[in-house]
Amino acid sequence: MVFAPMNEMLDHAWKNRYAVGQFNLNGLEFAQAFLQAAQEESSPVIIGVTDAAVGPLGGYRLIASMVELLMEEYRITVPVTLHLDHSSSIESCIRALDAGFSSVMIDGSHLPLEQNIALTKRVVDAAKGKGASVEGELGRITGEEDGTVVDSAEGMFAVPGECRQYVRETGVDCLAPAIGSVHGLYRGEPDLQFDLMVQVREQTGVPLALHGGTGIPDQEIRKAIAAGISKINVNTENQVTFTAAIRKSLAEKPDLYHLRPYMAGHRSAEGQRQGKDALVRFRRRGGRGQEAGKTTGRIPAALNSEKVELPVRTSERGDLPGNVLLAGRGGVK
Ligand SMILES: [Zn+2]
Repeated sequence: MVFAPMNEMLDHAWKNRYAVGQFNLNGLEFAQAFLQAAQEESSPVIIGVTDAAVGPLGGYRLIASMVELLMEEYRITVPVTLHLDHSSSIESCIRALDAGFSSVMIDGSHLPLEQNIALTKRVVDAAKGKGASVEGELGRITGEEDGTVVDSAEGMFAVPGECRQYVRETGVDCLAPAIGSVHGLYRGEPDLQFDLMVQVREQTGVPLALHGGTGIPDQEIRKAIAAGISKINVNTENQVTFTAAIRKSLAEKPDLYHLRPYMAGHRSAEGQRQGKDALVRFRRRGGRGQEAGKTTGRIPAALNSEKVELPVRTSERGDLPGNVLLAGRGGVK
């Protein structure tokens, strides 16, 4: 398998108290940026593709081949996981696995627990035969991602006892419990449930994924890693940055019609100054908390303080926190 199974990557992250970023693919440029940034930073990376994005991007096989060929072209040596994000059917998981994806997420969070377990178990059985990893979800993460909308009335936090049963009965490698993060852009402040993360991590014994990583402040990210998060999904931030760069190019040159110059806008010197590399942020945030996240049942006091200094690079523009691979120093060359 060209792509690394996600479980090994996340186990290492958990043991060493950092999180691996999952960045979602929205086109060729994104794949180029993610791979080159990961290589420059000597960091593992998870490239996610939502089920809804597969068709527009040309299908499972094209996506897997595209990423694989780019890895060859750029001589990528860091571990890369290719992950199907938020799949709702066993059929799409199998198609992804057959195409070479090394990890799939089956999202049965809208189903009653027993049905979610039954569906997930079938996906785990299919994935294990190929040495691939499976992520499951419990509770409902609110917000909007690629056309799937969960409003706050439907959203609900995961229940630790159910998470334990779900993981034990399905054998998933990673769990995305609903713990207060939101897909898309926040309308208010994130309301992450750190105690719940600790409980779920302890009850399940598997690495946890934090969806909706866009817009979560550094302090909260570090606390989340300490509380058991080993994977952080980022999609909106990169899309916002990419789109902003294109808007700016077209506004500056209204007559421009050549695609390549404005599609490359995120590579401009200004674009590169805008962001910081999320891969590095997640690693360093986690790295500070060497003692954190051990399953003590509570978040260590040092990390629970509001005054933790973050050993991360600061962005010259504060309005796009956390970005970024596309605009960041690891952008496409
Ligand atoms: Zn998600």
